[in-house]
This record gives sequence, C-alpha cells and structure tokens, in this order.
Amino acid sequence: MLSTLIYSSQLGTGYLPDLDGLAEISRRNNARQDITGILLFDGESFFQILEGDEEAIDSLFDRIRMDKRHDSVVKIMSDHSPARKFGETGMRVLDIRSHNVMDEASLALRQALGTRLPPSDRVIKLIRAFVEGKWRAPNRGACDLPLHETAGAPAGQADGNSEDVPQQNGHCQFALQPIVDALGRHVSSYEALIRSPTGGPPAECFAGKAGDALYEFDLFSKKYAFELAARLGFKEKLSVNLLPMSLVKIPDATGRLDRYLSDYGLKPAQVVIEITEDEAITYYDEFSAALKRLRARGFGLAIDDFGAGFAGLSLLTRFQPEKIKIDRAIVTGIEQDGPRQAIVKAIVECCRSLGITTVAEGVETVEEWCWLQASGIDLFQGYLFAQPRIGAIPGIHWPTRS
Ligand code: C2E
Ligand code: MN
Ligand code: MN
Repeated sequence: MLSTLIYSSQLGTGYLPDLDGLAEISRRNNARQDITGILLFDGESFFQILEGDEEAIDSLFDRIRMDKRHDSVVKIMSDHSPARKFGETGMRVLDIRSHNVMDEASLALRQALGTRLPPSDRVIKLIRAFVEGKWRAPNRGACDLPLHETAGAPAGQADGNSEDVPQQNGHCQFALQPIVDALGRHVSSYEALIRSPTGGPPAECFAGKAGDALYEFDLFSKKYAFELAARLGFKEKLSVNLLPMSLVKIPDATGRLDRYLSDYGLKPAQVVIEITEDEAITYYDEFSAALKRLRARGFGLAIDDFGAGFAGLSLLTRFQPEKIKIDRAIVTGIEQDGPRQAIVKAIVECCRSLGITTVAEGVETVEEWCWLQASGIDLFQGYLFAQPRIGAIPGIHWPTRS
C-alpha cells in the first residue's frame, strides 16, 4: 500500500549541514527503494516527506531514528493515498533559507500531479507550518539537568513493598504518589490511590460493587486516605479520586467529606478532588451543583485523565478546575509523536489563558519529561520520579544528566 510519512528532526550535534552530500545519499538510497518525496532544511531542522511502499517507508524511518545525524526525530504524519503527490522525481532537497519553499513545493506538486494542489491540502499546510517554525524542537534549555544527583531521597519504590505496611482496615488502603515541580525539585502534592487490603489495584477494591454501594464505598474510602495524610503529617496537598456519581448520588457527599476531614484535623483547602468525565455529562446539572458545593467549602478540583476516552473537553467548557491532568496515553513517547505534541501545546496554551495548572501523568522517561517541561507543563507525576507506595511517602528520584 502506498504510504506517506512526514517527520521533522534536528541536525545532530557535531554534524555539518552538508545538504548536497545528504541529498546525494538519500537520492541513491531512495531510488533503490522507490521512495520519493521532498526534504526541507533550515540550517538546524529537517522536515521530510517520504512516499512509497509502506514497508520500505517504515524501515527507512527506523534507520533515520537510529541515525546520529538526526536528533529529536518526531513523526508528524503517517497516511495513505492512492497516488504519489511528489511523483517519480526522486527526493527533492530544498534549503528553505535560499528558496521560496511554498512556491517550490507547489511547483513540485504541480509537476507531479499535473495540477496545482490547493492550499487546503494537508501536506501543503504541514509544509507551511514547518516554514513558519512550528516543528522546531522546543528550547532544550528549559530542562537543563544538573550533572550529578544532589543529596536526596532514594529512588521511588514500588507498591506493596514496604516493611512499614500500614494498619490495614479490612476495606481498603491507600498508596501515595508525589506530583512534583521537577525543576524546582519540590513536591506539590501527593495523590492517594486506592488499594485492596492485600495491596491489589483499584479494580480489585471496586470488584463486586455496583450502583449506590460502589459510590458509597468510594466516598467512605476517602476517610482512610485522610487518616493516612493526617498520620504522615505532610504539609503538601492531598489529591483524591472520586467517581462523579459518588458526588451526585450520595446525599450530602460534600458535607461527609468535610466531616471525615475534620475527624483528622484537616481542612478542605488541603484537598484536591480529581474527577474524570465519565458519566458526569449525563447528569450534568446535578454534577455541576455538587462541584459548586465542593468549591464553596474550599476543596480544590482537578480534571483527571484529560485527553483519554471521554476527552474532558466538554467538562472544561462547563467548569474550569484549578488543575488538569494530562493522561498517560498522551504522555507516553511524546518526544517522538507530532500529533500528540500539537495537542499538548494546545492544552498548555488553553490552560495558560484560563489560569489552570497543567500536570502530566505517567511520565516514565527523561525524554518525555524534557519535552513536556520545555513545552510549558507545570507539574509531573510518574514512575520517573516515584512509584506509588502503600501507606508511606515514597522517596523521589530527581533526574540528572547521564
Ligand atoms: P489515576 O487517578 O489517573 O491514577 C494514576 C494511575 O497511574 C495510578 O494507577 C498510578 O499507579 C499509575 N501511574 C502513575 N505513574 C505511572 C507511570 O509512570 N507509569 C504507569 N504505567 N502508570 C503510572 P492506579 O493506582 O492503578 O489507579 C488507576 C486508576 O484508578 C486511577 O487513575 C483512578 O482513576 C482510579 N482510582 C484510584 N484510586 C481511586 C479512588 O479512591 N476512587 C476512585 N473512584 N478511583 C480511584
Ligand atoms: Mn487521579
Ligand atoms: Mn489520571
């Protein structure tokens, strides 16, 4: 099947921008593979459109990713089409500093197709985005790492490992995972994640419970999260998860949360309630009334799993929380994924306008964190920094330059 792949990359450090040499090599290799397209270069960044057989394109792209001359390779588009847009002309190479690229690209396309592609064509729009500087790597300086580990806590430990496993209460227990300001190297808050009495995942705690019993259990379990926070006595905020329906279906849910807190000498202002979109929209009026009551008592609110499943976007149109947590599905591998990068940039921009703090969830690698930090995400949560730990505060690993 005919496949089109577009990527951008940065010239690897220590390599000279020898465009003619590069053009020659890629022309020869691509001709053998029957790969055609266009390669743009602006002195630092490459932007290449590859067209050809799907397998040939994929294996070429794998080689490009490994090639030291390319840094920060980002896949921007992968698509299929009935015909080549750049014809059989091989690989056209353009230095955008000395060409009017939009004209040249349109010309190449016109020659290939016998007709001028409309400016609304997606490939033309992507070329324009590159020429306008949209696909340059974000400023790496934003995540300059210290060279060595400063004295600090040990790396995070996994669940269920701890010698000081807490008093189990027969119903459930909680693991804590920090949400951190990675550059400032401090903990912003801890998220309490429910665990079964034997340390099993949330699904195990909720298994066999449905309807009102589930909502009742969900709400009541928060008592144990608050008890843990009080016992550990940390000063940072505590985030807890609640099903939207636990707030809607349980009479006076807000009042009950408030009472659980005061049992342990805590205040609503120390707590952030994380909710996902789920069923929230079906019962929007009741849900919205519940949120108002929470705000009125001083609880913080966050939209959880933003960008996963039900996107959270419709929730955001109706109420603006203090925090948005971007789902791991968007975060994983973001440094190589153009569409996700564009989405995160838009979320950052939107949250900035609305005064909402952004958190990236499920950050597992330094590369993910660096890209997200440079793009303006405020806070981070994930195994890179710490794994959740049952009944205790996990140690934090602050990334350093290797
Ligand atoms: P969540 O609120 O989005 O919590 C983050 C989940 O991602 C947690 O899974 C956490 O252990 C996991 N996680 C954190 N960092 C990483 C990472 O770097 N990589 C990977 N692969 N995973 C990471 P967990 O604890 O299994 O919780 C799953 C979901 O269960 C939570 O997602 C939340 O929606 C729900 N949940 C947890 N506790 C409660 C609760 O008390 N009430 C309700 N209603 N839901 C809860
Ligand atoms: Mn959560
Ligand atoms: Mn989440």
